[in-house]
Amino acid sequence: MPLDIDADRFRETFEAYSEIGATEAGGLHRLALTDADHEARDLLVEHMEALDLDVRVDELGNTFGRREGRDPDAAPVLIGSHLDSQPYGGRYDGQLGVLTALETLRTFEDEGVETARPVELVNWTNEEGSRFEQAMLGSGVAAGAVDADHARSLADSEGRTLGEELERIGYDGDAPAGIDDVYAYLELHVEQGPTLEQSGSSIGVVDGVFGLNWMAATLEGQANHAGPTAMHDRRDALAAAVDAASEINDLPNRLSEDAVATVGRMDVTPNSINVIPSEVTFTVDVRSYDPDVISRAPEAVEFEVASAAERHGVEYEFERLWSIDPLEFSPVVREAVAAGAEAADVPYQHIVSGAGHDANHMASITESGMVFVPSVDGLTHNESEFTEWADCVAGALAYANATLELATTEA
Ligand SMILES: [Zn+2]
Repeated sequence: MPLDIDADRFRETFEAYSEIGATEAGGLHRLALTDADHEARDLLVEHMEALDLDVRVDELGNTFGRREGRDPDAAPVLIGSHLDSQPYGGRYDGQLGVLTALETLRTFEDEGVETARPVELVNWTNEEGSRFEQAMLGSGVAAGAVDADHARSLADSEGRTLGEELERIGYDGDAPAGIDDVYAYLELHVEQGPTLEQSGSSIGVVDGVFGLNWMAATLEGQANHAGPTAMHDRRDALAAAVDAASEINDLPNRLSEDAVATVGRMDVTPNSINVIPSEVTFTVDVRSYDPDVISRAPEAVEFEVASAAERHGVEYEFERLWSIDPLEFSPVVREAVAAGAEAADVPYQHIVSGAGHDANHMASITESGMVFVPSVDGLTHNESEFTEWADCVAGALAYANATLELATTEA
């Protein structure tokens, strides 16, 4: 008999968490380690303790709730996602994955399920990277890809460090963040793209994830009065930046079929209505499932920046910030998800993720995989982000059964 979740309880729980950091437009503003995040974390701990899970918090504030299996020495199955949100983001991104994992363990408890392996629920710290600007941070440290001290020293725009904020909200745990002994990791997430909705599938078995490359460029011209300075006498850093951004937006057409490029932030100096901008810094994000595109991106972007700088008579600097190669998820987890979906009679399709997730980092240390549910209009990082509740339930059914499948695999 496949496991059957309690859809009403699942929904009530989702609504309750959605009120913490709720925005008027129906979204979520719950940045990592803010008071709202603190409140959501406390509620999760309360819910984990109500299930008799053994709760522990590590030095990054990653929070785990462990349910024992028959063999306490067996490597556990790790399930979860993140409770932090983007600024004025949606209610489904991250939160739905944590609450699906919670509903899975509640279902195990209801049904008296005994697994071979322990199962641990996890809420990762600072997945979004919008307050402390390194995305997938907690899972990155857990996987050994990011140094714990470096992570704790990252500061927000007001100079408050992650370590100080963990301490302030009481989530500065003692346990070292590194983990190595995990059998598998499974995360449910909203697709954040239109593929599933367009093909009418309830869920996606995620085969892999786009790689990404983050860069920054600075253009330096000369500030001058916006009135008396003739157009041909200007060295306008913003005109050059806009020119470069326009070319960068056109780059994917020349790189590959699936590539995307985004100029997401621009800082203008002196940022004044009647002064020609002297300096502009902007960021670039390029993604694709093709490793070649990821490795060639900086060269291609720098070429556009250099060309625009030359056209506008300004100087430029170019910086490579961060990159991740495209990733293929574990066949073990992909098969478990497909089997879980089949057991629960949920139609599915295979899909590649355009966004990075904590599951990326987990893939470097264990069998890792994901379940996607559709995002209406592909909309995400937006207060209007929405997933039909029937799809959330279908995803949770497949997820619970896939978790059971993984956790009953003997050590
Ligand atoms: Zn997310």
